[in-house]
Amino acid sequence: MARTKLVAGNWKMHGSLATNSALLQDVRKGVAGLTADVAVCVPYPYLDQARGALLGSNVAWGAQDVSEHVQGAYTGEVSAAMLADFGCRYVIVGHSERRSFYGDTDAVVAAKFEAALKSGLVPILCIGETLDERESNVTTAVVTRQLDAVLARCGVAALGQAVVAYEPVWAIGTGRTASPEQAQEVHALIRQRVAREDAGVAAGLRILYGGSMKPGNARELMAQPDIDGGLIGGAALVATDFAAICAAAV
Ligand code: PEP
Repeated sequence: MARTKLVAGNWKMHGSLATNSALLQDVRKGVAGLTADVAVCVPYPYLDQARGALLGSNVAWGAQDVSEHVQGAYTGEVSAAMLADFGCRYVIVGHSERRSFYGDTDAVVAAKFEAALKSGLVPILCIGETLDERESNVTTAVVTRQLDAVLARCGVAALGQAVVAYEPVWAIGTGRTASPEQAQEVHALIRQRVAREDAGVAAGLRILYGGSMKPGNARELMAQPDIDGGLIGGAALVATDFAAICAAAV
């Protein structure tokens, strides 16, 4: 099955009204007319700015996290319905920085995934192993465990409306990228795991690679049969780099 590639930028906690304004305009211009789907996931306070700057373009916008709760006394949290109100299409759940710094367990990530889907958002589910785990040869077990938590809570059909991002933790923001072969191996096992539940969902599932993807390595990574795009951190803050990665997603 042909899968349209998706390149999503994760701005993390960067930016200001002034710098975002230029970046959004440059991204909008830089990716116009490309075949890949493109999105930027911005900090909450800038969602309205992203909506205004990107309306009518081929760039979707989204957030970097979401509450697992619908509403109520959860000070500091932002619900999926609120994100939908801002016109978000995507929301990242389970980013390794949320898992390691903020205690998002597999169960919490699955609940956030479900909350996003229920509000009509497309969750980008991040999974991936740490360096220790890779060196201990438990990559398959870790990635499968993270994926299975979502399958158990939401069912395989839910993955038909979602995106998975394989992000080896040791490659995020480190400049150390998984080789195309290393990434492809894990992407294939993710697809096989989903295929055990539903071959059709597996065939249509977009699995992004994230971890120091740059203009110089993007084409080779995304040429792998099971790599359907990228989740981009650092390079998403430089419009020309981000646009070059998007252009490599063919
Ligand atoms: C990320 O934050 O999801 C990421 C992949 O970051 P970087 O591209 O900077 O490694």
